[in-house]
Amino acid sequence: MVCLYCGNETSVKNSRLQKRANAVWRRRECTECHATVTTLEKIDLATAVLVRTSRLTEPFSRDRLLVSIYESCKHRKDALGSSIALTDTIISNIYPHIKHAEVQKDVIIEESLKVLHAFDPAAGVYYAAYHPKTGTKK
Ligand SMILES: [Zn+2]
Repeated sequence: MVCLYCGNETSVKNSRLQKRANAVWRRRECTECHATVTTLEKIDLATAVLVRTSRLTEPFSRDRLLVSIYESCKHRKDALGSSIALTDTIISNIYPHIKHAEVQKDVIIEESLKVLHAFDPAAGVYYAAYHPKTGTKK
């Protein structure tokens, strides 16, 4: 990766595994101007994981999940910030259910409901009304 300030190469000075988020955090330093930047390496779920519904599979979309969570939280003042954090939590909770790069849509719905109900029961009720289970969970 190149430096944001001068365009020269950077090297990794420190790295940490974020186990829960299945991500690697890295501190990089420019070899020329010594500016530092932080990078976060994560699996690109959209290219790696399929969501199985009753009739088809489709690529996992964090954006789509975020929008559905935001819709459920939009009565709140902190809707956007909360929805981003809730989406990260839901994705962490989904990870153990991914098998052979696939996850059942109902697992995503169940985990979203659990997280929303614990955070704001009204958001959970709203989400449940718009996300009926597909009945595909094995
Ligand atoms: Zn630099």
